Amino acid sequence: MRRAYLDNNATTPLLPEVIEAMLPYFGERFGNASSIHHHGQETRAAVERARELVAKLLGCRASEIVFTSGGTEADNLAVFGVTRVGDHIITSTIEHHAVLNACRHLEENGCEVTYVPVDGHGVVDPADVKRELRRNTKLISIMFANNETGVVQPVAEIGKIAAEADVYFHTDAVQAAGKIPVQVDEIKCDLLAISGHKLHAPQGVGALFVRKGTELEPVQYGGRHERSRRAGTENVAGIVGLGKAAELAIAGLECGDDQRMSALRDRLETELLKIECSGVNGSVSKNSRPIQAWMAGDGGGGAPPRLDGAKPRLHTYPPRVPNTTSIYFDGIEGEALVIALDLKGLSVSTGAACSSGAIEPSHVLLAMGLPPERARASIRFSLSKQNTAEDVEFAVGLVAETVGRLRQLSPVYRSTVPLEQTRAEPPV
Ligand code: PLP
Repeated sequence: MRRAYLDNNATTPLLPEVIEAMLPYFGERFGNASSIHHHGQETRAAVERARELVAKLLGCRASEIVFTSGGTEADNLAVFGVTRVGDHIITSTIEHHAVLNACRHLEENGCEVTYVPVDGHGVVDPADVKRELRRNTKLISIMFANNETGVVQPVAEIGKIAAEADVYFHTDAVQAAGKIPVQVDEIKCDLLAISGHKLHAPQGVGALFVRKGTELEPVQYGGRHERSRRAGTENVAGIVGLGKAAELAIAGLECGDDQRMSALRDRLETELLKIECSGVNGSVSKNSRPIQAWMAGDGGGGAPPRLDGAKPRLHTYPPRVPNTTSIYFDGIEGEALVIALDLKGLSVSTGAACSSGAIEPSHVLLAMGLPPERARASIRFSLSKQNTAEDVEFAVGLVAETVGRLRQLSPVYRSTVPLEQTRAEPPV
């Protein structure tokens, strides 16, 4: 059976070069990177080479990179590492659970947390962040790009607010790194998390950028690995894979991988929007806008000036990472569509959280103001640079046919969904 994989925000396949780079570290190069003999020195050198490459991807010093077991651990280390009882944290309603649940835990243990809302495009307003600053605010944690909609947040503007207020700024860049340029000095962040398996490295490895001078307490105790910031013998093969993936991502961004990916994503989106009663959640931007300018608070050009003199950000579509689109098909149960598509060879996801057997609509889409039934009718398509035009054609045909079939079977579709196109501008 032909299969196409369009769920790359869940995980990406390893690139052949990454596998090749890792292979010796499952065999003859097995040393513990903390050992002082030949075998240890060999793996230590490999870990340090990888650290240089990850640092290059993020535009920081190698000594500012802490290897972790993935994005969740990197986010947790950032959030728990700089906060203490009595501190106040500002985060957003659309964060990944790696940040949200860490914040909830802190709330239950003597910290205060403010969850700033997003607009209908799924964007945090930096003015809201600024307004929520308090005397005891210690940390702002706002993600770089959302995992469900791909929408990029104005992180450079938020970084400036944090720096002016002398508050730590963490950004979860798990869905941005490798897809768009991510440079820590542009964002002025103190902490930034990435995950290997979202950029063609293996699962179970990630990294946290920790700006020099940041007072970070470890969350696990043991040996003095990673300059006493993260105890535990390093996952050498995984780290080597992450280093190689970072090197390939830098080269890919230089040679336009992102533009090819966004052209495929845009084609997929344009075709899927021909299905009646469908629409995009978040933003339909085609990546034409300079992402750097957007992140720094420049409306990006072309937007009408606002009467109050504020920057015209909210009048235009925010940029997205080039691989993601979240689309609703009204009258459809997202999980049913995912299963039906899987049976025909297409892997996509809903982005919904499945807990204790109940399918809950995505907290991200609800936070953007979608009604629960539309959030449940949404599917996330996420590409990688390995996807082809044939994958897109295959997906378009299959989704159109399957949505049509499921709607025919639905006793409620005709009565609940108006026949005319209901695609509406998202509320701003
Ligand atoms: N943050 C974001 C935005 C993510 O999308 C994910 C994974 O989906 C994570 C954090 C967690 O990363 P990991 O799977 O490496 O723990």
